[in-house]
Amino acid sequence: MDDAYIRIENITKRFGAVKAVDRADFGIRRGEFFSLLGPSGCGKTTLLRMIAGFEYPSEGEIYIDGAAVTDLPPNKRPSNMVFQSYAIFPHLNVADNIGYGLRRSGLSKAERNARIEEALAMIRLPDMGNRRADQLSGGQRQRVALARALVNRPKVLLLDEPLGALDKRLREAMQIELRQIQKNVGITFVFVTHDQEEALSMSDRIAVMSSGQVLQIADPRTLYEKPNCREVADFIGTMNFFEGTVIGTGGDITEIDAGAAGRLQARNVAVALSAPGTEVLLAVRPEKIALNTANSASLIGRVSAAAYLGERSHLQVSVEGLKNPIAVAAQMATQHAGAQVSLSWAADAAIVLPRE
Ligand code: ATP
Repeated sequence: MDDAYIRIENITKRFGAVKAVDRADFGIRRGEFFSLLGPSGCGKTTLLRMIAGFEYPSEGEIYIDGAAVTDLPPNKRPSNMVFQSYAIFPHLNVADNIGYGLRRSGLSKAERNARIEEALAMIRLPDMGNRRADQLSGGQRQRVALARALVNRPKVLLLDEPLGALDKRLREAMQIELRQIQKNVGITFVFVTHDQEEALSMSDRIAVMSSGQVLQIADPRTLYEKPNCREVADFIGTMNFFEGTVIGTGGDITEIDAGAAGRLQARNVAVALSAPGTEVLLAVRPEKIALNTANSASLIGRVSAAAYLGERSHLQVSVEGLKNPIAVAAQMATQHAGAQVSLSWAADAAIVLPRE
């Protein structure tokens, strides 16, 4: 990527026999909110710590703004890190916590105070400078930790599950706030999370990781609508999978024999996956499935579970011969457990993936 501001060049990190990060090679743009997303142990924290300078890569180079930083210690890099356990000093007040990192900056006291005021306004705690840190709520403390990282005006802010310790409501409020702050200050954010909803709602782009490898890098919509492999499709949202074999292609429609699920159609399948005989995986999102209509595919099944969720219902539909029930998210669904239903979806809704 030519416009990369942070360049991760062929980075591998080994801990003994464990490959925590395996040949990561990508760029992060200036001003981007970029997330590293994946299950526990996939290597996202290790990758972040290498960008920060807390870990040294076994192989590869890291560049920030065109300069190699691989051999620089954390305090010599143009980045700052916010940790999950907000490391603020309970015995200092809010202003002193925020100003802590400025003490050796060479700035005058007036300049330091101006910066602290600016940071307090940024995190929307303008009148709390004198409050002791141990008198703050969890969300307020996390905002102070954020302000402390921002007060040095780093070019890059690295955030390791910074909202992990907060309860759900506070976490959601902070997600919106953090995104707003990032937009306002225009700093490049690299954000580590295992929470896919959090990553989808906040990020410009996301790198999905698994077992040390980066599987796909894309914007949230592309990850959801065009995952490039089973693991990404499975990790982001809910997905139904059907194993099948390509029968043939006519025009832009590829026909797939999916055994008990019948013959299924998909539009614009990649050339590499469309040759007759290719074993593929056909994936369909629950909300793309319609009940009781006949489209390009129609499957008869029985509702095995139904959950009413207000504007939407989630159904599990069992189809004879299929191992897993099919997940359907439907609006205004009135079917109860036991009802027979027919399922269909458009060829456009089918995503064809390689079978691993
Ligand atoms: P989590 O969300 O649980 O923090 P993660 O995706 O951030 O997980 P990492 O912490 O980067 O994962 O760990 C990746 C792999 O490297 C894991 O298998 C982990 O056990 C291993 N690992 C991480 N740090 C060390 C270390 N200092 N020594 C040995 N192994 C390590």
